[in-house]
Amino acid sequence: MASTLPTPDPDRIEDAVLALLWLTAFVEGRGEFAYRRAWKGHDWEALGRLHEKGLISDPVGKSKSIVFTDEGEVRAGELFGKLFCGTPTVENPPKTRQPFAPSAIRLWEAIPERHRQQILDNVFCSHCADMCRMEDFTGFKELGDLILRGFCGTCGKVVVRLVETSEEKSHR
Ligand SMILES: [Zn+2]
Repeated sequence: MASTLPTPDPDRIEDAVLALLWLTAFVEGRGEFAYRRAWKGHDWEALGRLHEKGLISDPVGKSKSIVFTDEGEVRAGELFGKLFCGTPTVENPPKTRQPFAPSAIRLWEAIPERHRQQILDNVFCSHCADMCRMEDFTGFKELGDLILRGFCGTCGKVVVRLVETSEEKSHR
């Protein structure tokens, strides 16, 4: 018997279910009416709790799919990256466009606007072998530092920039 297994943590099951919902998610509608749906063939109790937390629509009903709330969509994308895509690092940036991690947004917003522009305008692109401007960027945290990932404004290839917290302090 496998009864020696510890009791599963409901919070961790919820995280996994939310991340798996992201795996099968699809977008319906266009523009401001667009919303993200996902097939709901998952643990019923976990779906119910995710609904109570305001992350997905009510799973009870004839529809075979649920709709993410705005908060649920962001959390699901982050959890999908965290659980299934490995921890992003400078050497291993996320392959796909991911939402700006909330913890990274706080670091980014703590930087004065003028310095933010300096950072974005001075990103080294290894393809251009020159300093370029980073566009369409997103961010995540690694060892307390902010890492920006975006696209080179000149050649369009992926560029990554590490913003050290210590570097930030020296500019104040
Ligand atoms: Zn470039």
